[in-house]
Amino acid sequence: MKINLDDMIWFDTQNCFIDGSWQKPKSDNYISLINPSDGQEICKIARSMKDDVDLSVASAKNALSGEWGNYTALDRSRMLQKIRNVVKEKIDVLAKLESFDVGKPLAQSKADANALERYLEFYSGAADKIHGDTIPYQSGYTVYSLREPHGVTAHIIPWNYPMQIIGRSVVAALTMGNAVVLKPSEDACLTALAFADICREAGLPKGALNVLSGLGHEAGQMLSEHPDVNHISFTGSVSVGSQIQKSAAKNIVPVTLELGGKSPQIVFSDANIDEAVPFLLKAGLQNAGQTCSASSRILIQNSIYSKVEEVLIKAYKKLSVGPAIEDFDVGPLISDKQVKTVERYLKFGSDLKKLAEAKINPDSCSKGSFVAPTLFGDVDPQHILAQEEIFGPIQVLIPFSDEEEAVKIANGTKYGLVTGLWTKDGSRQMRMAKSIKAGQIFINNYGAGGGVELPFGGVGHSGFGREKGIEALNSFSILKTVAVNHG
Ligand code: NAD
Repeated sequence: MKINLDDMIWFDTQNCFIDGSWQKPKSDNYISLINPSDGQEICKIARSMKDDVDLSVASAKNALSGEWGNYTALDRSRMLQKIRNVVKEKIDVLAKLESFDVGKPLAQSKADANALERYLEFYSGAADKIHGDTIPYQSGYTVYSLREPHGVTAHIIPWNYPMQIIGRSVVAALTMGNAVVLKPSEDACLTALAFADICREAGLPKGALNVLSGLGHEAGQMLSEHPDVNHISFTGSVSVGSQIQKSAAKNIVPVTLELGGKSPQIVFSDANIDEAVPFLLKAGLQNAGQTCSASSRILIQNSIYSKVEEVLIKAYKKLSVGPAIEDFDVGPLISDKQVKTVERYLKFGSDLKKLAEAKINPDSCSKGSFVAPTLFGDVDPQHILAQEEIFGPIQVLIPFSDEEEAVKIANGTKYGLVTGLWTKDGSRQMRMAKSIKAGQIFINNYGAGGGVELPFGGVGHSGFGREKGIEALNSFSILKTVAVNHG
């Protein structure tokens, strides 16, 4: 399907959005943005360097003492509502941009665009309802607390869910009155740039949001090390997260780390298998498995193992794979580099029982970054494919005998992001929700339909800090205590 992308990109992709306007990168250097469905260049984006980072941070700092800093909570609420209205008008084009850029099937990109709108709805409603407390104290004192912005917040985000992550981190930071510098991924950043222009159109005061495209070890690192940044929200890999934490430690600033996962779904013999199977599949293969909360491990109780295995094999054989914009079940990976990583893991799996491999259409997929969704069975929980985050369309089935063993396997990786439990036994649901190490537990569902309202984040190597829901507004603000001695 041939679509003219120039008709869809209404902003200048080669510029940085600094101090309320589009500015040429000082380096005059550019990066190619590639469409992973066909390997073709979409456009060039700015390769921001130190000067651009410095200007962005200075602009954000100035915004805090300018028009944006004078906004009341109600003003911020109304501004977010205006941004929401522009996002709403552009849902379809945002979805298409995400599909070309990320390689995400169109229906999934549309869901992400709708989620961005929902975040704006949720946080615009919350902006003027967050407040401190009065605290009972000694006689002669009145004590109260204030929730204040950190100041300049840096947001370094990955390529897999740009719109969703902008919603849960950038929008939450703006809600609390912070001034933002956003560094999207060099592999996919069109919707981040589009969001900057949407904010400009809606009238967001200059400097409240700055967006810089660029490479991680350049613009990303410079931003995370900048002494005038007061908070860092990082979503990405464990290795970069660890470096970001070091930068934050040097400058003594708080950091939220949203990292990887090896999330299990656990299916007990009393589960409703018909209800579970679509979630087992979708949670593993959404965005071609490139999802932090991808359910890449499926734990199945021995007595129903063969039955579930059979159903999943059939489902894998029916999967369609192809270009994102044509909305197949599974699209490409983000890049050829990611294909190589996944293929390396598939080689590690050569000693495993391969149950199914979806077919890739050789005509429509020949130039893109495609990997066939693959299902492995009877996998040892210690196998590398059951331990490491692959970030591709690969799932492993692991049999277990009882609840104790299921908990041991579920908790047996370095990650702890999300867990899905499929069982009708209420007591078991309660016990396991307590004993499993994860930031979110879903019982008889997985993901609860996206859950803008539900605090999200990990434990262990999945990171720390919480985004989404009202909890994000606590993360993006500081509590100040005021004690008045009035006698
Ligand atoms: P990545 O860590 O390579 O890159 C993430 C971002 O960091 C990009 O913008 C990149 O440019 C930047 N970056 C890279 N090196 C940097 C450096 N030295 N200093 C500062 N910034 C730097 O991750 P990725 O490959 O883009 O994304 C995949 C990873 O993200 C996976 O591990 C996935 O699980 C994780 N992820 C987590 C969540 C979550 O909410 N927990 C959500 C999405 C993705």
